[in-house]
Amino acid sequence: MNTLPPPDPERCVSVRRDGERCGGARLDDVDVCWAHDPRLAEKRAEASRRGGRNSSKLIRLQKAMPPRLVPVFERLERAFEDVLAGRITARQATAAAAVARAMIATATAGELEQRVRDIEAARAGDKDAKGAS
Ligand SMILES: [Zn+2]
Repeated sequence: MNTLPPPDPERCVSVRRDGERCGGARLDDVDVCWAHDPRLAEKRAEASRRGGRNSSKLIRLQKAMPPRLVPVFERLERAFEDVLAGRITARQATAAAAVARAMIATATAGELEQRVRDIEAARAGDKDAKGAS
């Protein structure tokens, strides 16, 4: 039989289907998280409908993304779900997004530099070819 530990004063008191305590971050005014607050049921349903509608768009987006950035995107996606479920705080998600932006900026700058080098190399090659003929 399950004997649940006493609820953490900062964590959601709801019990999940598997019998464990939810553990999500409590909202300010209640002892449950975003995912277990009955007042937010309609918002959750709407977010879930949106998620369904947007999933094919997300798949296309992932295909268009440089492969190196796909894991970053996937982790951000999980962070998004975790914020909605109250498993991480909005502050933690904001910090993760800031780090991800820096990673993406660095990766993008690296790719742009490589493209410029490729173009310059190609142009130098053209000049050499013209000079030789
Ligand atoms: Zn909860």
